[in-house]
Amino acid sequence: MKYDFDLFSIGAGSGGVRASRVSAALGARVAIAEAGRFGGTCVNVGCIPKKLFSYAAHFRDDLKDAADFGWRLAEPTFDWQKLLANKDREIDRLNGVYERLLLNAGVTIFRGKATIRGKNEIEINGKTVTAKHILVATGSWPQLPEIPGRELAITSNEAFFLDKLPRRALIVGGGYIGVEFASIFNGLGVETMLAYRGAHLLRGFDAELGRRLGEEMGRKGIAVTLHCHPLALTKQEDAIQVEFNNNARHSFDLVMFATSRKPNTAGLGLEAAGVKLGADGAVLVNEYSTSSVASIHAIGDVTNRLNLTPVATAEGMALARTLFGGQPTPVDHDCVPTAVFSNPNLASVGLSEEKARARFGKVDIYQTAFRSLKHTMGHSEEKIFMKLVVDTASQRVVGAHMLGPDAGEVIQGIAIAVKLGATKAQFDATIGIHPTAAEEFVTLREKTT
Ligand code: FAD
Ligand code: NDP
Repeated sequence: MKYDFDLFSIGAGSGGVRASRVSAALGARVAIAEAGRFGGTCVNVGCIPKKLFSYAAHFRDDLKDAADFGWRLAEPTFDWQKLLANKDREIDRLNGVYERLLLNAGVTIFRGKATIRGKNEIEINGKTVTAKHILVATGSWPQLPEIPGRELAITSNEAFFLDKLPRRALIVGGGYIGVEFASIFNGLGVETMLAYRGAHLLRGFDAELGRRLGEEMGRKGIAVTLHCHPLALTKQEDAIQVEFNNNARHSFDLVMFATSRKPNTAGLGLEAAGVKLGADGAVLVNEYSTSSVASIHAIGDVTNRLNLTPVATAEGMALARTLFGGQPTPVDHDCVPTAVFSNPNLASVGLSEEKARARFGKVDIYQTAFRSLKHTMGHSEEKIFMKLVVDTASQRVVGAHMLGPDAGEVIQGIAIAVKLGATKAQFDATIGIHPTAAEEFVTLREKTT
């Protein structure tokens, strides 16, 4: 049977764009549908604008540090409208870049919401299009707990477009988005509280990192409140009153929920086409990103495996090679490094101490906490924390963790060594770069446990 296209991708975000471009380059006839803006979550309401905001927020510390080095500055003021306008201009530019990348690759673009109507049929703008393969790359959407008054709150989607900065903000959630936005608001001068229901921030990361991040954020002025979650939100004249599980009540100008995201599969026609979904709504796929229906594939957040942009693009690339490159390519989700752009930054690769103990039984821990050279001259109490987790039996470094400035930049390099299975002795045999913070990763001699 002749299809209109070899591949029809639904969603032009990180995963869909990469899979479509690479498939087209491999000779496939490709179409893509996008209901919103090109580039998806990462470009429009995720990684990129978040990191721009994060840079803006960090300047507050930088300006204070500058004074310790002799700079005399007038009392700084911050212009939110200017940051928003400059951010929007950059995002518009990136939207154009993504659209041109697709057009230059020869991909046919459909603007609108696509729905699956069969194993090889898609409905878009009232028309039916056929494709040999369908790719679901529809991403995810913020979830809010079912509590009274939740409609008064915003999510990260709206946080990128606020008319003005609030005076007092509550962030609910102690995951990636919660700690990043609490740091952003605090850095921009907003009185910020972070409410998290658990015992330490960033569940799933090495527990020590989450504990230390909470302390550092507290020192920077954020009211980090653990074992705490809101029960109800009530509209007051010009504020939102929040009732918490610990009987406290506080008023805020802005409440933001960062309480995880759900795969975008509702109303997509997947189940009718025979595609199996998980309890969380994610498309269930095999290691080649193929669903329970052989012609329907899924990558990125909609599969709820590891919800990070470089993972979505790697899955897209692997799928293109599998379908059109004659090279069946599974995606390796092991040892994926990740960074959290809180203040201070935090990054990890491999296993936390807790997970390594569970997997290997016996592990050696090497760690250090110290003030950076940059801060020895000044007021800042901020401590850099680094930790290596080593499997005692094989002496392989199975986890590397850092809390401190540019942690993501440091861990990206360390990740190559961990991925290659480097041993502690090989870390030790590497000569450091002096004076840097990163050199500590090759000079950790004393076992902590
Ligand atoms: P998306 O990028 O979400 O793209 C899905 C696209 O599908 C969207 O454009 C949507 O409009 C479209 N779509 C949905 N349904 C349909 C339909 N029926 N028809 C047509 N189009 C449709 N990851 C990192 O690695 N680093 C970070 O620093 C980082 N920061 C983040 C910050 C925030 C606030 C958020 C929310 C996420 C962040 N992420 C980060 C995660 C990252 O954004 C996602 O993992 C990534 O965007 C997933 O890509 P995707 O292709 O699966 O989906
Ligand atoms: P996370 O899963 O990281 O964090 C969700 C947080 O909300 C957790 O602290 C969770 O608590 C809490 N929570 C969940 N449900 C409730 C509830 N009903 N009531 C109170 N608290 C609740 O999700 P995010 O929304 O922060 O981010 C989504 C994903 O996007 C991330 O997991 C990550 O994959 C990606 N992302 C990546 C970034 C990066 O790479 N820098 C930045 C931002 C997002 P508990 O831990 O107890 O479950």
